Amino acid sequence: MGVMAEIIFPLRRSVLRGLSHKCPACGQGQLFGRYLKVQPHCARCDHELALYPADDGPAYLTIILIGHLIIAPLLIFPIIWQSDPRYSLPIILGVLTVITLSALPRIKGGWIGLMYALQVTSRDEALHTADAAD
Ligand SMILES: [Zn+2]
Repeated sequence: MGVMAEIIFPLRRSVLRGLSHKCPACGQGQLFGRYLKVQPHCARCDHELALYPADDGPAYLTIILIGHLIIAPLLIFPIIWQSDPRYSLPIILGVLTVITLSALPRIKGGWIGLMYALQVTSRDEALHTADAAD
């Protein structure tokens, strides 16, 4: 196995586990206790899941993805511009809200899977460039 494959395959595996709301370490235990609340420890393998920082990362990523993959392509359709906004706007915003709120936990799971694969933990806070500027 090449060097790239040794990096990419475990990374892809743990990101995919996170995307499906599973523990990135074992792929069995549930990652979330509630909607966006990460379990402190995996119920299956006892891996410390609270170790991985998410902060605003998943929210930024969700905004970028929804904006580029859904909102921007949506604007191509003339019906968006021609329809009466009194009727179309509540529908569009309602659908976008549902899509965004269902994407957010998946993206947060994938994010935590990525942090797991890259071995980035909240103990690495000292490495944050913004803090180093102080
Ligand atoms: Zn686990």
